[in-house]
Amino acid sequence: MSAEIIDGKDFAGGLRARVAEAAAEFEGVTGRKAGLAVVLVGDDPASQVYVRSKGKATIEAGMASFEHRLPADTSQADLIRLVGALNTDPAVDGILVQLPLPDHLDEHAVVETIDPSKDVDGLTPISTGRLALGLPGLVPCTPLGSLMLLKDRLGSLSGLDAVVIGRSILVGKPMAQLLLSESCTVTIAHSRTRDLPAVVRRADIVVAAVGRPEMIKGDWIKRGATVIDVGINRLPPETEGAKGRLVGDVDFASASKVADAITPVPGGVGPMTIACLLRNTMVAAQRRANIHSKD
Ligand code: NDP
Repeated sequence: MSAEIIDGKDFAGGLRARVAEAAAEFEGVTGRKAGLAVVLVGDDPASQVYVRSKGKATIEAGMASFEHRLPADTSQADLIRLVGALNTDPAVDGILVQLPLPDHLDEHAVVETIDPSKDVDGLTPISTGRLALGLPGLVPCTPLGSLMLLKDRLGSLSGLDAVVIGRSILVGKPMAQLLLSESCTVTIAHSRTRDLPAVVRRADIVVAAVGRPEMIKGDWIKRGATVIDVGINRLPPETEGAKGRLVGDVDFASASKVADAITPVPGGVGPMTIACLLRNTMVAAQRRANIHSKD
């Protein structure tokens, strides 16, 4: 048996097209573009790449992109002042502070100052609290995209056993909340979990968000399970000067022999993250303008 590949790139393309339609409608009704502000502090190369691609995708969707690049030695007070200005800027519907921040800055304190109605990353205490309470709100993009792929593949998730490996605020915890709200029986595994292979073997749905290349092996996976691989890991280059291969947290070669369906890396969850960021920005813009969203 060979698993079906869940094509996140294709699904994300469809979502981006729907967002672009909604963005055009929004502009027609309000006379302005929906706007996303992205704040980058310092010169972390990976963050620079992410911020560039978010800005490009925002413009391609017909929305306005506001990029704020601040030097690495920016003070906490200056960063919070910028977030405050974006909170009150009527042209800005979504605010994203690119993480990680340089060590001298307190991420929680900064994120907490984002207006929850503009919190398109879904990381403020209000957004995380609303998710825990099962109330509508803005949900972190990577888990939201992963859930969309699961529902597209499986339809109802009710009653299924789901194991989420990883308990980060950005991925693992909100993923588990989303699966619980779909009436899955959810287990959250982490670095202290005993006998992880046995825990994973129970699952109809496996979501891997660990950050360890190819850690989850095929013989941990129950036959017929659906596997969502959130991990993005770059292996060391095989030849000098070349770029190392990108792999997920799941050993794709062995897992795809037992799973029913699996996301590839790249081309699985990754493209969904940016598409969901655009979707969240559109939802935030519509709510702020009192426009009823179609989804
Ligand atoms: P974090 O490092 O914040 O969290 C990793 C989690 O994995 C922790 O909860 C940790 O447990 C757990 N863990 C680490 N080692 C083990 C182990 N040996 N066994 C079981 N659990 C373990 O990572 P993120 O959640 O931010 O990201 C996870 C992965 O997803 C990364 O590869 C990242 O690059 C990728 N990612 C991909 C995105 C995308 O768009 N596709 C977006 C965001 C992230 P503990 O809490 O006990 O330390």
